[in-house]
Amino acid sequence: MVMRVFLFSVLLAGAVVAPLVAREPAPVSASTIPNLDSVKAEIRAYYASGNWEREASGVTTSAQAFVDAQLRGHPVKPAIVLDIDDTALSDYGYEVSHDFGYDSRSYDADIDAEAFPAIAPTLALARHVKSEGVAVFFITGRRTPERAVTLANLLKVGYPKPDGLFMRPTSDHSSSIIPFKSRMRAYIQSEGYTVLLSMGDQWSDLRGGHAERDFKLPNPMYLIP
Ligand SMILES: [Mg+2]
Repeated sequence: MVMRVFLFSVLLAGAVVAPLVAREPAPVSASTIPNLDSVKAEIRAYYASGNWEREASGVTTSAQAFVDAQLRGHPVKPAIVLDIDDTALSDYGYEVSHDFGYDSRSYDADIDAEAFPAIAPTLALARHVKSEGVAVFFITGRRTPERAVTLANLLKVGYPKPDGLFMRPTSDHSSSIIPFKSRMRAYIQSEGYTVLLSMGDQWSDLRGGHAERDFKLPNPMYLIP
């Protein structure tokens, strides 16, 4: 698991959700800082109302339309790349049960328990593109030792058997996930695939190129650089 930059620290820094973490000047007054408990309540309401899923569905519908348009051009070995946490599988239940905090022990225990439910719009996208002959790859910040349980979790909730599952090596201590994820997309391309799209809930899932189009799912809970 890569280090997360959480709501709390983001709010303390005075940065509203922005692509990656910007070092903002320190707020000079508390009046400009959103109240942390209010923000948590807003996030809960956003998910509980179904609005998160509606927004996510809008993104995956656009992604499906893009894939279908590209397939009409008969690309060589078409593929999509998906992030896992809060893209393919939902961490929302974990976040709520930990008051939007995070500790590696409880999080890793949930990973080991294969406890994460599917994100329905992403699951539908993965299954549909697979039925169209498109390869489905996963690239995740989860670490190599979590490979077996991660694969089991994906399959258990209905994802097609991945054409590739790339876990971040335990030896990778980069402060950003971007080099690892973009390197893996480049590798997929080097295997002759046309990476039609990359989808993630973090901008860092998407930056670094090696996909024809990026699709960003909403995630107001945390930032991963
Ligand atoms: Mg993610």
